[in-house]
Formats: sequence, C-alpha cells, structure tokens
Amino acid sequence: MHRENEQAAGVGLGIMSQIPKTLLFLLLALAPPGCAVPGAPSGCPRASTCPAPPPANAVKVFAKREGEATRFYVENQEFCEITMTFEMTLANLKGERQFPCTMTFPAGQVSEAFALSPIKAGVKSEYSYTSYYKLGSNCARHDDSYAYQLPYSPGNEHKVTQGFDGSFSHRGANRYALDWEMAEGTWVRAARGGIVVRVKDQSSLGGPTKQFDPYDNYVLIRHDDGTLGHYCHLQKGGCVVKPGQGVAAGQVIARSGNTGFSSGPHLHFCVFKTKNGRERQSVPVKFKTDTGNLVIPTAGHSYRAPEIQSASVRSISAGTAAQGSLVR
Ligand SMILES: [Zn+2]
Repeated sequence: MHRENEQAAGVGLGIMSQIPKTLLFLLLALAPPGCAVPGAPSGCPRASTCPAPPPANAVKVFAKREGEATRFYVENQEFCEITMTFEMTLANLKGERQFPCTMTFPAGQVSEAFALSPIKAGVKSEYSYTSYYKLGSNCARHDDSYAYQLPYSPGNEHKVTQGFDGSFSHRGANRYALDWEMAEGTWVRAARGGIVVRVKDQSSLGGPTKQFDPYDNYVLIRHDDGTLGHYCHLQKGGCVVKPGQGVAAGQVIARSGNTGFSSGPHLHFCVFKTKNGRERQSVPVKFKTDTGNLVIPTAGHSYRAPEIQSASVRSISAGTAAQGSLVR
C-alpha cells in the first residue's frame, strides 16, 4: 500500500432563513493524522518519526451568501490541481449539481464550485457537507507513448522485485506499480519531468505490514499530462527537491530507503491519475533501457539505465490544470 495523502478539506453546516440575514457557517478544523507508532503504547516516541502533516490550510472550502443563493468556493494553494468530492445533505435547498459530486480545481486560485438556492420561499433551509480531496485531476489522460527513464543513475542496474499486478501489494489502485531492489541511500532520479507537488522525508520507520504505511517517505511529481509520479520508501532526510520545483527527467530527486510499508530496501514507483476525492488509479508505463528497447519491467529481471540519458523537459506550469470538470 502506498498512498499520498487523502485529505478532508472541511465539513460545514449552514442554516438559512428567508427573513433574517443570518448565516451560520461552521468550518471545523480536522485533527491532524494520528502519530501512533505500531507497537508503541500511545503517542509519538520521537517527533522525527511522525508522519508529516498535510500543508496547513493548503485547500479551503468556503461559502458566501449572495441574495437567495449560497455559493461555494474552493481555494487551492497546492502545487497542482486537486480533485474534490462533496457529500451534501440539503433541506429545502437545491444545487446545480447532483451530490455527491466530484470536481477538479486548478492550482493557485479560488474557483467557484456550485451554488445552492432555496426550493420554497419562507421555509428554513439547511445544509451540511463533507469534502475530501486528492492531488491531481480526474480529467488527466495519460500519454501512453511517453518513454519513462529508469528512476536511477545512468549505467546502474536494479532488479525488479514486484511488477504490475504483484501479489504482495500491487493490487487495486496500485496494480501498475513497480518495485526495484535498491540499497538504502541510492540516488533516485525522476523517471519523467514535471512539477514537484509533495515531498515527505521526516520518517525513519518502516516495516512489512500496512500499519507502517503512514511512515512512508515519498516524492510526488505532476507530469504535463496531469498524471502524477509517486516515488516511495525514501530515506529519512533524503529528498533534494522541494514542492513547487520543476524537475527534468533524469534529475536526482532523493535517496532511496526502507520507510513505510516496506519489506526491505527498495524503490516503489507508480504513475497514477486521480478518480475522485478518495481514490486514484495507477496507469501502465514503459521504460527506456540500455538495450534501446521500450520495456514493461517484470519481476525477477534486472534493467540497466542507459549510460547517456536524453534529459528533456517540456515547459510545465503548475497552474495549467483543466478546470471544473464534473464526474458523477
Ligand atoms: Zn511497491
């Protein structure tokens, strides 16, 4: 299991009356993820072993009353678009959307999500909602023709220990992930260029059960087709890139490790697109090797990165996301 953060953006309540100008809108800050360490009685033994909290208030949902209507807005200060799902309970209110609804919001701006308006005049109206988001766009279409670089240094060779549909953990949303055997501290390089959108390397814990999943160190890179590359189990303090930074294919991004849900030192790599506020879906990818062929790496085989990689990166902006598309 390898997950980037799924985050609850907020929960809210609203009571609207036709006559008074009162609007009760309550946003409840959610507690950060727990710090319980498997096997430990409670709490966090050392601050450095806690999972990194999500960026504070990177995404906000807020509502504004405009006449009879209540308009909902999403402010997204992440470094890439987000896909958010709203679950809504309404009394005497109707929306422009059917709920639950899933929408994608571009990076670095405030976007209107939808509006609610009363069904009957003179009757009290109420709403409550919960929203969740994941990084990435639900409109991303993977460029299947892209030739990925092996995510390690030119001339190096690593063995694949788990391929697509691997029985240990490459199931479901992670079915198209790959694991390469890799000594801790090995340089990891970007398999494809893009914008770094999330970096976590504070954790020093790892182990062979799902309980260790929150302790995964990782780098997440947004590609120009809207998909995201996920590099996992990195060494504590091993990341050399920052969120918002552009990276080229072949560029060093981190040192490998054995953190999170990991049965031994290795690099887990996966490209995925986002389905909704709770789910993502991995996509199959192909790699260039020193043979000159494009391959889908398979378990038990070793692959050498070409001595000379053709580093290239297209101009990419974190703010060029598709906007406001809807999946019901
Ligand atoms: Zn894996």
